[in-house]
Amino acid sequence: MSILVTGGAGYIGSHTVAELLAHGEEVVVVDNLGTGHAASVLGAPFYEADIRDHDRIVHILREHAVDTVVHFAANSLVGESVKNPLKYYENNVAATARLLGAMLDANVKRIVFSSTAAVYGEPERTPIREDDATVPTNPYGETKLAIERMFHWCREAYGLSSISLRYFNAAGAHPTLPIGEHHNPETHLIPIILQAALGQRPEVSIFGDDYPTVDGTCVRDYIHVMDLASAHRLAVERLRRLEKSGETAAEAFNLGNGEGFSVKQVIDVAREVTGCAIPAVVGPRRAGDPAVLVASSDKAREVLGWRPERADLREIVDSAWRWHRSHPHGYER
Ligand code: UDP
Repeated sequence: MSILVTGGAGYIGSHTVAELLAHGEEVVVVDNLGTGHAASVLGAPFYEADIRDHDRIVHILREHAVDTVVHFAANSLVGESVKNPLKYYENNVAATARLLGAMLDANVKRIVFSSTAAVYGEPERTPIREDDATVPTNPYGETKLAIERMFHWCREAYGLSSISLRYFNAAGAHPTLPIGEHHNPETHLIPIILQAALGQRPEVSIFGDDYPTVDGTCVRDYIHVMDLASAHRLAVERLRRLEKSGETAAEAFNLGNGEGFSVKQVIDVAREVTGCAIPAVVGPRRAGDPAVLVASSDKAREVLGWRPERADLREIVDSAWRWHRSHPHGYER
């Protein structure tokens, strides 16, 4: 029995691979390296393959006796999705439909899916719960939601069992292995702040300070990547348990710490952690940014038994800082 991780050479994927291996799972990774890094796959067989390649995926699923897929492979930039929505419908929705077809042909009927807080759009209340309205404000969130809906219908039609994990703001790096966050271009707040601390960029631009929040800057719920990784492991275990009792699922869980920090607060924490000045200037708002995104993760705690172990923002930033300091150019030499 092994687990196929698609997009396992990406940021959250590579940390989840490490977590699964550390818990004795057999893991196989597929990634087309569109945005991933082969160097981030440590200790698992790796196939440079595209999830749309039906025959190759069926072959890999059979060859490795895969029983569950953990699916990260996707495009995930909000701004890009607004400029080029068809890329997101193709690479996220259509590609996942192809992956599901290959899974069914190989008789693999369990999938854990990398979803996002972006499925909610502008939230109607805080903290956000899973049964709150899902009204995405960009194609990225829209395509992730479409995939969640696809799982619902595939459960009805084919008995597919799925768990969708809606992440809030992932950050941090593996505590011991040389893996961490590396996007090119980088758009996420914490790596950008740390690049400024390293002198790789002159300053951090704060996207708006006129939001209705504690200091006018956007509030987000930052969650350590290793805590996200453990939720994937627990979701795999849940799907296996359900199957033993003859049940299927099409469930969604929020993953966050339930505490929000403003952009300015994150910069202040990073100044403390790094001891660097980190110049910051206030710029215009970024289109499509909700003022506050904070998760209720009660459902994940109750149903998955999930317990975030690195909830402290200082620890999250410190862990990211160790990675950025030791790998100032990420996976590039
Ligand atoms: N942000 C910012 N400057 C940056 C990058 C991000 O002020 O250079 C803000 C962004 O507007 C949002 C928060 O930081 O309120 C987190 O943004 P990120 O892109 O990391 O994650 P998102 O919340 O979009 O998933």
